[in-house]
Amino acid sequence: MNTTEHAPVDSLSADLLAMLDRTDPDVATLLRGEAARQSETLELIASENHVSSAVMHAAGTWMTNKYAEGYPGKRYYGGCEFHDIAEDLARDRAKELFGCGFANVQPHSGANANVAAFMAMCDPGDRILSLPIKSGGHLSHGLKPNFSGTFYEIHDYDVDPETERLDYEAIAARANEVKPKMIICGYSAYPRTIDFEKFRAIADDVGALLMADIAHIAGLVAGGAHPSPFPHAHVVTTTTHKTLRGPRGGLILTNDEEVAKKIDRKVFPGSQGGPLMHIITAKAIAFGEALQPSFRDYAANIVTNAQALADGLVEHGYRLCTGGTDNHLLLVDLQPRDAELTGADAEQWLEQAGIITNKNGIPNDPRSPMVTSGLRLGTAALTTRGLGADAMRQIAEWLDRVMASKGDASVASEVRAEIVRLCEAHPLPH
Ligand code: PLP
Repeated sequence: MNTTEHAPVDSLSADLLAMLDRTDPDVATLLRGEAARQSETLELIASENHVSSAVMHAAGTWMTNKYAEGYPGKRYYGGCEFHDIAEDLARDRAKELFGCGFANVQPHSGANANVAAFMAMCDPGDRILSLPIKSGGHLSHGLKPNFSGTFYEIHDYDVDPETERLDYEAIAARANEVKPKMIICGYSAYPRTIDFEKFRAIADDVGALLMADIAHIAGLVAGGAHPSPFPHAHVVTTTTHKTLRGPRGGLILTNDEEVAKKIDRKVFPGSQGGPLMHIITAKAIAFGEALQPSFRDYAANIVTNAQALADGLVEHGYRLCTGGTDNHLLLVDLQPRDAELTGADAEQWLEQAGIITNKNGIPNDPRSPMVTSGLRLGTAALTTRGLGADAMRQIAEWLDRVMASKGDASVASEVRAEIVRLCEAHPLPH
């Protein structure tokens, strides 16, 4: 995909690029390319977003130079005065944002947060009940080659084969059979509201712990557009970079003091060394942004946009798994529109036109995970650009035009030109 390599950038980025032009032109060139790519394409990957300039630049500050193993007030290194302040700020803001009593802001990623949560809640070999990746779960919830599938005894529940939604009675029956130590809810490709209260009742009935991984919906939870996992979950893990619109990273939350102590031990020294203090500083800023009243509008708009995009795609003959969406995410079954069309082809053709998506298996997908019959789409990044429902209908039309053309290069360049115009009218946050 060609880009102009001349995206409008903020003054700090312009200074960085000017410096790199002198010191490392190879990197200057690739950064200009990526800035232009993001600026001129529509980002529909459900797990991605565009951070504010403040979050982006805070991730590249003096805070990157420091070792700060331990926690505020109890470090293994000197010189942590400002790192303690940053971490306390991030922890306090995370607690306020999610309405809970404890936050650990050190996990380097969502998967790392899950490692620490598993270690805190379970012993190796314990039975865990989770949704498999093929039905919308995440690999860190029990995929065989992952730490979770390697060190724990993983059992599956599934979505209902007809409705493709969680069937809480069936999950309760499965929990009764398996008698797990822990049940995991929260997913990578599930477009419907999660009933955390029902999950807690199921867990209580079998004496299990409940872990909610809200990586995808964290921004919706923070902005009041999805019910909170509190007070239901014993432990909550998340990423900070999806709908929450922070730097790439992880976060663990709980209200249980005993769980909190174990989480701190299992993050450090249990599974990580020095925390990424530059990222923790950027997390503090992102949490501060999410605490602003405008973030509630943002979260609501993400959902409204997802529904408008869903309506548009249905009008063009696509089937949406579960029949629609309650959150930021759509799982599109391509087969009813075109039995030959695969997720892999669609992803590639759309990228040529400037629409960035990812292929995704649908429940009971006959195709392999590298091919798939589905596309996963999300509206968090589009909403950050200030796009609204009218734009979503236009985007549905573009998606269909490109997929119906089966990768025709002239259709791709025609759509791409229209997309560049829309992007110019809705620049990325500076
Ligand atoms: N949990 C869920 C539900 C996810 O969707 C993801 C990432 O997509 C993760 C955890 C892992 O996050 P990371 O890629 O930061 O390790």
